[in-house]
Formats: sequence, structure tokens, C-alpha cells
Amino acid sequence: MIPDPLEFVGRALVARGALVEAPMPDGLEAILPDDLARDEGIGDAVVLVARADPTRPGAIACGIGTAMLERHVARAREQCPRGDLRVRGGVRAGHARSLAERFVVRNGKVEIRDVGPSSGIYALATVAWTVEADDRFEGLVDLAFDPVSGALVDPQFVSFVADMGEPDIPVALSPGLVEAAAGMIARRIPARLDAVIAPIAAQIERRAARDHARIVGYYEALAVEAAGARRRLEAAALAARIAQFARERDGKLAELGGRYTLRIAARLATMRWVDTDRARVAVRMVRRKSHRDLDLHLPPGAHQLDRLTCEGCDCSTAAPALCDEHLHVLCEACAPVAQGRLRCPACGALG
Ligand SMILES: [Zn+2]
Ligand SMILES: [Zn+2]
Repeated sequence: MIPDPLEFVGRALVARGALVEAPMPDGLEAILPDDLARDEGIGDAVVLVARADPTRPGAIACGIGTAMLERHVARAREQCPRGDLRVRGGVRAGHARSLAERFVVRNGKVEIRDVGPSSGIYALATVAWTVEADDRFEGLVDLAFDPVSGALVDPQFVSFVADMGEPDIPVALSPGLVEAAAGMIARRIPARLDAVIAPIAAQIERRAARDHARIVGYYEALAVEAAGARRRLEAAALAARIAQFARERDGKLAELGGRYTLRIAARLATMRWVDTDRARVAVRMVRRKSHRDLDLHLPPGAHQLDRLTCEGCDCSTAAPALCDEHLHVLCEACAPVAQGRLRCPACGALG
């Protein structure tokens, strides 16, 4: 979905500490912190409207073409630099054909029907992540794919593009393509982050467990010591003392929970769109008496064909199996054994 300009400005202000409410149609009321109001050159309590409205004097217009919107779009661009590129030539049809000849469908045959030049757009996203607990960790993960098919592109293509140098003028994108790309990033990044963060989480968990054991052991020792001295203590006083230890211990353990709770954040750090020539191999995948036609692609610099998207789980696969019913493309996890009738998650989802 293309964001509504007014909503976009409203969100941008909220992200910088403003309070924004929408009490009227086509309008927002915003209360800004002093420094933000100064920075924006507007009052600290303002009305934002989609377009200039003589019945609302003093209201600030935020629609397409307004200074307010342009300022916020420019700021958003700074936060997520976009460097687009056009790649012309470099199509290796022969190489694509020889890779396609070795392309494996685990339970079917592949017939090559046509090989030739074509073009396409790839989305190259870099996501910056941070994990904070008792310590701070940060890093980047890349995701490069064809937003039309979801196919993952060989990292060699990303290196090839990185070596191409200066970004070009922006690639023209349809809203549908941007939406598809945003959806794929949102669906695929969590799994990528999980893989990166798992060892960090394990390390933090080990430290938390060690501190937990230390606190529990310390108060246990205090309780044992108090019980050992029971001849000098009344039973009631001893019980009160032990209850006191338990409270102190629980307080310390609760603090520990806060200190070792993972706070994970991720944001799109850069987004590149690459409009490139590439080789296309039209193949027919044949399973028993059915077939399905698909295109495989090889962009410049890539050593491998783009990896098809599994229709069962949305990950990617270099050696798919096909389901019997609709010839859905399934990855090694969704169809670990390709012999016999497959249980197809994609057909399951169709009901
Ligand atoms: Zn799968
Ligand atoms: Zn299926």
C-alpha cells in the first residue's frame, strides 16, 4: 500500500516524539516537543491537513508537493539510502542453458523450452539489527531477490552490483512491486535474524542462568546458616528471617529478568533496486502426466540460477520437488522425501 502523505508525516513526527491524534477527517492534531517544533519551524501544537484548506487557517498542508512532506521524505531517504542501478548487457545465455541442464527437480523431469535474453528488477535489501540485554550486539543481514517471483539471487550478483560503482537514477517501480518486496522482506527477515541472533541469545541465556544460580545459592546458604543457628532463634523469628531471604532473593531474580531480557530491533538500512538484463531459461517441469512451465533466470555476475521460492514455506530451494495435485514447488524441508505422494503444505493451504 502506498502510504497516505498525511499519515506518513504524522508517523514521522510520532517517531520523533510528537503526540498525534486524528480527531477529524483529513486532519491530524499534533503536539510537538520544543526542540522538534524548533527544528521543524512550526508551533508546538499544530493541525496537519492533507491539503491547504481556507476553512482551517493556520493548518499545515502535508499533501504531495508540500514542503512539509518533501522535508519528511528527504529525511526518511537519509535514514534508508536508496541507490538504484541499471545493468545492461552481460547476458550469458549459454551459461544459463548449461546450468538449467543440471537443474534438478527431485521427483520430475525438466525440459528446456527456450533460452534467451530478458530483463528484470531485483530488490537488494540490507537490514540493520541490534540486540540489547546486559550487552549490546549489532550487525547487518542482506536479502537479495526477484520481487516478482520471490526467487533468491546468487550473492555473486550482489558483489557484481557492488563493484558497478555509482548509483544511477531511480528505477521506475510499480506500487505492486514495492508492496511485494516489502512483504517478502517482512516474511523472510525474521528467520534470517533468528539464525544470526540464536548464538547471541544462547550466550546471554548462559550468563543469566549463571547469575540466577549464584543468587539462589547465596540465599540458600543464608537460610542454611540461619537454620543452623536456630537454637538461638525462636521458630517464628526463624520463619520470618527465611521469608525475608526469599523476598530479597525474588527481588534480585526479578531484576535479573529485566537485565537479561533480549530487546531486538531491526530496520531497513539500505534498499537498492537493480534493473538488469539477464538470461531467461523457460523450462517445463514434468511430474507424471502433468507439467508446469516456469522461467529460470541468470543475472550478470551470478554463478547460479536464481533459487525458486518454495510454495509451502516461502523459503528458497535449489532442488525442488513437485506436489502431485498442482505441481507446487516444494523445498527440502517441506518435502524431505520426494518419492511417492507428497503431503503438500501449499495444497493444504488451498483447503
Ligand atoms: Zn518449504
Ligand atoms: Zn501442492
